[in-house]
Amino acid sequence: MYHGALDTITDLAGVLERFWGYSSFRPLQRDAMDAIIAGRDSIVVLPTGGGKSLCFLAPALVRDGVAVVESPLISLMKDQVDTLVGNGVPAAFINSTLSSDQRRTVTEGVRDGRFRLLYVSPERLVGEGGDSFRNWLSKCNVSFIAVDEAHCISQWGHDFRPEYRQLASLRAQFPGASLHAFTATATARVRRDIASQLALKDPVELVGSFDRPNLLYRVLPRNNLKKQLQEVLARHKGDGGIIYCTSRREVEALASWLTESGVRARPYHAGLDDRERSRNQDLFLDEEIDVIVATVAFGMGIDRSDVRFVVHAGAPQSLEHYQQESGRAGRDGLEAECVLVYSSADFMKWRLMLERNGELTDSACKLLRDIERYASSVGCRHRHLVSYFGDTYEKDDCGACDYCLGELESMPGAVDLARKILSCVARVGQRFGAAHVANVLCGSENEQVMSRRHNDLSTFALLKDSAVPEVRGYVEQLLAQGFLRQTDDAFPVVALTNEGVELLRNPAAAPGLALSRQRRVVREREQRRSRVEAEAWEGVDRDLFEKLRGVRMQIARSRGVPPYVVFHDTTLREMARLKPQTMDSLRTIYGVGARKAEDLGEEFLNALRGHG
Ligand code: ADP
Ligand code: ZN
Repeated sequence: MYHGALDTITDLAGVLERFWGYSSFRPLQRDAMDAIIAGRDSIVVLPTGGGKSLCFLAPALVRDGVAVVESPLISLMKDQVDTLVGNGVPAAFINSTLSSDQRRTVTEGVRDGRFRLLYVSPERLVGEGGDSFRNWLSKCNVSFIAVDEAHCISQWGHDFRPEYRQLASLRAQFPGASLHAFTATATARVRRDIASQLALKDPVELVGSFDRPNLLYRVLPRNNLKKQLQEVLARHKGDGGIIYCTSRREVEALASWLTESGVRARPYHAGLDDRERSRNQDLFLDEEIDVIVATVAFGMGIDRSDVRFVVHAGAPQSLEHYQQESGRAGRDGLEAECVLVYSSADFMKWRLMLERNGELTDSACKLLRDIERYASSVGCRHRHLVSYFGDTYEKDDCGACDYCLGELESMPGAVDLARKILSCVARVGQRFGAAHVANVLCGSENEQVMSRRHNDLSTFALLKDSAVPEVRGYVEQLLAQGFLRQTDDAFPVVALTNEGVELLRNPAAAPGLALSRQRRVVREREQRRSRVEAEAWEGVDRDLFEKLRGVRMQIARSRGVPPYVVFHDTTLREMARLKPQTMDSLRTIYGVGARKAEDLGEEFLNALRGHG
């Protein structure tokens, strides 16, 4: 460890370079760190992957005393601390998973000033029986307290945790320490709530941009889910990814189907017993499997930073949720793909569920409408998300969404097209589902259609030049835009809304209506890569990269840590681009700090030198 050398590093840039091998700050990091150095309370809102942790980690190495990090993610503390120690940062954690011996070692270390960072779970710090621990800690020269995932303290947040409420007593317990709250999702209301709950004094507020430029967003109306998944997986052979489903049944079904198709995948949901669930999570973190199929129970604080794709096989209940869940992709800053596969049945399911729980408030309905709108809109996804979260988006072409990559085709004559579909819904008596309506419009002479004699309707084969899934996609979009609605039976029936009826009467009734489809040429050949992706791979020797991944895996296995604790993909890619041959040049690689170079440098240099 570097205790001796610690005293000599007083500047933040030096700390960043030495311990993390990073040469610059991400947006707002510098300001967030300055607030801590100055001992000013603060609230920092940065998107997932924005680099929140560094905001409190680096100052901990500059300020005297021990910094306390408050985090609800007990299961991750060990990996977080292992990563820090691997970088040469003297850190430790205390939570319920430690034996009393281990706990004693840590408390002695803190008392002797051997640690700069101490991760603590909320129930340790404030829970019953936490008194003696708290009293002890308050005598330990605590420099500041960082509250991670601070939205958990607010019942307006999406992940309220009652035990976080008790953190309100921190201010009184640690009058000498400044308090710093960090979160990825905070509306102004949650922000105010955090500030008042923690009794922050005139806090510095830093709110970052919510755009994640390295994420490529795509939205697909659900038609053939497995085929849609196969297309995503084909772009990501051997990559880490998460597939979110809305039911356990679907999780199980998809996980077995993937396994049968030769994908290394495992299920994750609240119905599995604890052992199996945490085993599957570990397999994923350790890169022993590539894909985790999960309900939303999975992921709070998933720290596998090289998740290359997140697919939602059903829509979540709000864009806040979508942002949070899809945000687990690409935390290393490299390109990653987020695909929302939605159907109007998803939103219905949410409405039913919320209603059953007595939670179908006006605001919950609005949140649902907002994500429906996102799903069915024809426009830049980055722009849509950024403006939803209250920011303005400057770029005209994001280069990283289905719309900007030209994969969507906005249909000319959308009003006409919509009216044809609406009139077919009326013709079949508003008594059939979306699939049937699409079949009639496309002129399918299947059993259902023929036996009802729907082939005699004037709307039969009205859209015979379109494929059935495409027309189903239009039906989804009309549902999402409120011209159609679906009944909530087991076999949902599509019917007209008042807006739909009005549009049939008067073609000028819906000036804003837009319909889109995936361009056929795009579907047939491989989809374009996003700009970020092209840049991230530029000049990278892919064979060498794979070789380095192998070296990393070996080291990870022999040390019993997840591979990202050794090095992130970003670092391996840069090695495979610049091919350093000496220790000095290796040290200049992004993500290689002094400690890592000393510890792992030779092993990686061997691989680099041996590569012709
Ligand atoms: P968050 O907690 O906001 O989701 P993290 O703190 O986990 O984000 O950071 C995401 C990734 O970005 C991590 O791998 C981290 O090491 C890296 N990172 C953070 N700050 C920088 C920086 N200034 N330069 C390069 N990489 C950084
Ligand atoms: Zn775009």
